[in-house]
Amino acid sequence: MTEITLYNTATRRKELFQPLDSENVRMYVCGPTVYDRAHLGNARPVVVFDILFRLLRVVYGAEHVTYVRNITDVEDKINARALETGRSISDITEETTGWYLDDMGELGALDPTHMPRATSWIGAMVAMIEGLISRGHAYEAEGHVLFRVRSYEEYGALSGRSVDDMIAGARVEVAPYKEDPMDFVLWKPSDADTPGWDSPWGRGRPGWHIECSAMAHELLGETFDIHGGGNDLQFPHHENEIAQSRCMGHAFARVWMHNEMLQVEGKKMSKSLGNFFTVRDLLDQGIPGEVIRFVFLSSHYRKPMDWTAEKARDAEATLRKWYKNASEASEKADVPGKLIEVLADDLNTHEGLTEMHRLASKGQAAELAAALDLMGLWRGGMPGWAREAGPSEDVANLINSLLEERKLARIAKDFARADALRDGFADAGVIVKDTPDGAEWELSPAFDPERLEALK
Ligand code: AMP
Ligand code: ZN
Repeated sequence: MTEITLYNTATRRKELFQPLDSENVRMYVCGPTVYDRAHLGNARPVVVFDILFRLLRVVYGAEHVTYVRNITDVEDKINARALETGRSISDITEETTGWYLDDMGELGALDPTHMPRATSWIGAMVAMIEGLISRGHAYEAEGHVLFRVRSYEEYGALSGRSVDDMIAGARVEVAPYKEDPMDFVLWKPSDADTPGWDSPWGRGRPGWHIECSAMAHELLGETFDIHGGGNDLQFPHHENEIAQSRCMGHAFARVWMHNEMLQVEGKKMSKSLGNFFTVRDLLDQGIPGEVIRFVFLSSHYRKPMDWTAEKARDAEATLRKWYKNASEASEKADVPGKLIEVLADDLNTHEGLTEMHRLASKGQAAELAAALDLMGLWRGGMPGWAREAGPSEDVANLINSLLEERKLARIAKDFARADALRDGFADAGVIVKDTPDGAEWELSPAFDPERLEALK
């Protein structure tokens, strides 16, 4: 059997992966809070753990892997969105969940085995909170239930920080009812306008962290193999999950995996920084899901990655060649062992793509098709977009020369011409982005070659 090695955040080294039960390999990944379209950064863990899911299915058999990814459909951001828009909470969460699954499907992500919604598991959360109180790890205060962080000695072990360091660095919420500022919420009271459930502590709703501990327990058991998410979740979310579960006597996850962040101009892409665009934005601009996925796979998951239009253009050109090559295969082949081997080395997808370049250059069409399939880049045939011609060399040359002309016009302070070119590109459906390294462009689905010609 293929040996898989994975970098375990908890031990800070690469380890040989040995599942607790090779008949049922179990993985949990923190999923989205459903109040808005997923931004491109949110898609990174989805693609990373989809590759791991596919690899595990190949190695242990598709029927022997259970993958759980939750849907957070109770959260204050959702309540705020409902207030803002006057829509009902369930309308918002249902619509957003649908969008999420559509968008991730476009990126070639398989559906996880289970996608539990938090609101369907409130009973399990209440039971776990009661257990934590009875064991002395949680306390009720003014309708809230809080986890007593100092009662769990190993708190902070995952990120390798002491509680006091964490307090210094974190934005902990100080509240009069907390015994200690580090204590975090397991349950909080709801007013009449906020979703709530009856509980021994009055009508209220769960905190975010207890959700994952309770659902992982219900669907995967007291201990399971892999827990994943972005490294922004390491602290406090994953520390809190560990504290809650271990204090219930559950061994919880054995291997912790974290993807690095997707960045824009060197900063994490995030809603709060306002530097985000959604997966749907890119799809609407005519960038195919396979191209987005390819760009993700070209960086190792433990390295930060930058999204650039240039990477997308290169990926598209490569995929066009590969699809043409692979569709010429006359028989079916097994996935090349070398590809499985590099993926089994802590998901070295970058090396996997290099291996695929090798297959393509040697004309191994059937092996290339099998490789595309394993990488989630092949859905039973050549995608429609790859059948259509891409921008011809003439079009590319014309755009580049007009961009050069615009640059010279700006230098010469001929703003009339520079602006006319800018407007002309927009009219013709050429999306131009000015970056510190010069202008980048791509064609939108509305590209009109005649209008481009008219700009000459
Ligand atoms: P959230 O909805 O913010 O809780 O995030 C959902 C998932 O997306 C989590 O696993 C996050 O770690 C991950 N995530 C959020 N922002 C980024 C980013 N810029 N790059 C990579 N992963 C991210
Ligand atoms: Zn979680």
